[in-house]
Amino acid sequence: MKSSSTIVLEAHEITKSYNEKRVLDNFSLEISSSDFFVLMGPNGSGKSTLMSILAGTNPMDRGKVMILGHDISHDELKARQHIGYVPQQHFCSDFLTGRENLQYFADLLGLSKSQAKKRIPQLLQMMGLEDDADRNVREYSGGMKKKLEVATALLGDAQILFLDEPSTGLDPNARKEFLMLLKSINEQGTAILLVTHIGEDAEIANRVGFMLEGRIVAEGTPQKLKEMSGVKSSIILDVIPRTDELLLLLGGISNDCIVIERNESIELSCEEPNEMVPLIMDKLQRSGFNMRSIETQPPSLEDIFYSLTACPIGGEVA
Ligand code: ADP
Ligand code: MG
Repeated sequence: MKSSSTIVLEAHEITKSYNEKRVLDNFSLEISSSDFFVLMGPNGSGKSTLMSILAGTNPMDRGKVMILGHDISHDELKARQHIGYVPQQHFCSDFLTGRENLQYFADLLGLSKSQAKKRIPQLLQMMGLEDDADRNVREYSGGMKKKLEVATALLGDAQILFLDEPSTGLDPNARKEFLMLLKSINEQGTAILLVTHIGEDAEIANRVGFMLEGRIVAEGTPQKLKEMSGVKSSIILDVIPRTDELLLLLGGISNDCIVIERNESIELSCEEPNEMVPLIMDKLQRSGFNMRSIETQPPSLEDIFYSLTACPIGGEVA
């Protein structure tokens, strides 16, 4: 782990339009080597455009991107050698094995035979792909393909990884495992910039930015954003029997409580959830209901995004 943090990425006032429509609007961002930065935004908010510009594969109309002091527009080779870019679309060949894919990208990068011989097994081990290295990629799961793509992005001297919606399509366990792997890469000194529309991906970050219409509208740690929004925890109840009387009783507990019926549980949204829990338990017990469980659940980052931007993150930007 690196002891001190250096600035890896500086993006100044990036502007980009497609067909007169402004997609990035004076976008600025600074990222240090210790950062795990997650940028959350709905579809169409400009995330992929931003990533391709930062990675030097798409020209900007105006602005400046510096990677470890190298200008991506004027000193492209030096800047790009420190970047690992995993775009949104799957890019490894399904018809090669994992190891062959890594060898192919090592050749493209100009790694020597001895460098590749050393680096490829290291990366396969780091990604937990050793046992599957000689299988065709078409037999890989979504999570394995993403890990392989991260491995290709780390073949060179990447000091920053750009990941565009890497966990989309992964099941919850594969997503968790993949995020933990990214966390350990970050802890070994590689900065991470991940864009997503999935709140769970952002819980792991030390910095989260909310992106809307080509700019960051709020930024902070997940905790700070939760505090800024003022969105409270919900109370989740599992009570039997689920009768109309139960709903009436819960609805009457306090004026500021909203009762939401879910399949498996009942959710209560209240101003002071922690104070309400003992009150609810007492009332339900007295009325003869069987409380199987009661817990408070912190708001998700999707809830916070909606509360701060008035835009649902699962939606589309018009
Ligand atoms: P996100 O990744 O957040 O979904 P994108 O950066 O892909 O957003 O797209 C932002 C906007 O720019 C969308 O309205 C999209 O249709 C438009 N756009 C993206 N790429 C192009 C392109 N190559 N040509 C024209 N319009 C584009
Ligand atoms: Mg995108």
